[in-house]
Amino acid sequence: MIFRAKYAILNDRTIIEDGAVVLCGSKIREVGRYTEIRDLYPAKVVDLGSAVIMPGLVNTHTHLELTHHKNLVNHYARFTDWLFQITTRSNCDDCQQINQAILDGIQLSLAGGATTIGNIHSSGKGLETLRNSQIRKVVFLETLGLSSHVFADESARISKTLKSLRNDDLFTTAVTPHAPYSTSANLYQYCAEIAKSDQLHLSTHIAETKAEIEFLQYGTGEFAELLNMLNISLDAWNPPGVTPIAYLRKLGILDLQPLLAHCNYLTDNDIDLLARSGSSVAFCPRSHKYFSHTNHSIMRLMAAGVNVSIGTDSLASNWSLSMLDELKFLADNYEELLPETLISLLTINGTRSLKLKYIGKLEKNWQADLIAIGISDDGRPVFDQICDQASENLMTVVAGTICYRNENLEI
Ligand SMILES: [Zn+2]
Repeated sequence: MIFRAKYAILNDRTIIEDGAVVLCGSKIREVGRYTEIRDLYPAKVVDLGSAVIMPGLVNTHTHLELTHHKNLVNHYARFTDWLFQITTRSNCDDCQQINQAILDGIQLSLAGGATTIGNIHSSGKGLETLRNSQIRKVVFLETLGLSSHVFADESARISKTLKSLRNDDLFTTAVTPHAPYSTSANLYQYCAEIAKSDQLHLSTHIAETKAEIEFLQYGTGEFAELLNMLNISLDAWNPPGVTPIAYLRKLGILDLQPLLAHCNYLTDNDIDLLARSGSSVAFCPRSHKYFSHTNHSIMRLMAAGVNVSIGTDSLASNWSLSMLDELKFLADNYEELLPETLISLLTINGTRSLKLKYIGKLEKNWQADLIAIGISDDGRPVFDQICDQASENLMTVVAGTICYRNENLEI
């Protein structure tokens, strides 16, 4: 099959007019100008018209299990109040609700232009649904527990779940200790050990709020109150007295080149540690706005050479799961980010963040993961048209399979 469109963006630097992508099974066979390659490949041509074919977007941080919590969780001023609600609500979710949340989340992700997701999975429910879905995914199995008596159960649960899951071309297992205010040092180190021995990727939520920094410095503040409300004992908690990033270094986590979600509050020394360790950061721009955080360190991180990618986070703290919406938001609110940088953030940087290969560019022999954005073709620069509020994703292809098509698309 050959997809043809007014434009094809192959990577952050290359835009082709009258572009075409030739697919062969799950891979890309050729890319180039339509007129130059049409006669070389006698395949069915799908002409997408006024559209931009580009690499599928990579959402490096989401929680599909929480899709059904959209508008259910009230957003008060404090992050910990939100977290209390989401924790207590999620504890009541049954298998059917979680299955449906995952199915809905996958559909919304595909519709919004994501071909790959880094998904945090907490409950253990709905894993087969996730595994059998058509989207490409790295599934980070989440563990948490601050009290010493949960360590044995949690470590055994994670090991058992990992053993029960088999990776395939679209499904990769990984681990994620939740966050330093909810997960003991022992559990972090256990995750680091299995990540090392089983060669698994590791992610964690880190430096998300000022309250987290206070809790790690002094053991006081909102998180101490939250844990108290959840009847979680702080007996085993010894505040390390350092920043969250320095704490991860102390635990040996940074040695694993982890994917760190949020990183909203960083010192210069933190950024230096991240750069030297080769860690990646999942910045969630609209979730950042949802919680009224300000001044994310994205420019400082990139200037230091840290690989930054983009996540939506869950529908409990975002307005949609669309990566195209995330791109438009960044273009509107982060003027210092050049178009080519934005393309990298949402494609190839995501690939690196998830430690995957051969996705994030349209290139011969790479995976056929691509999208087609419908544009008005009004003469403006292509990137401006993609980021126009009226543009929409017409089609999402993962590993050569059309997984989503817009109702207005006739092919
Ligand atoms: Zn998250």
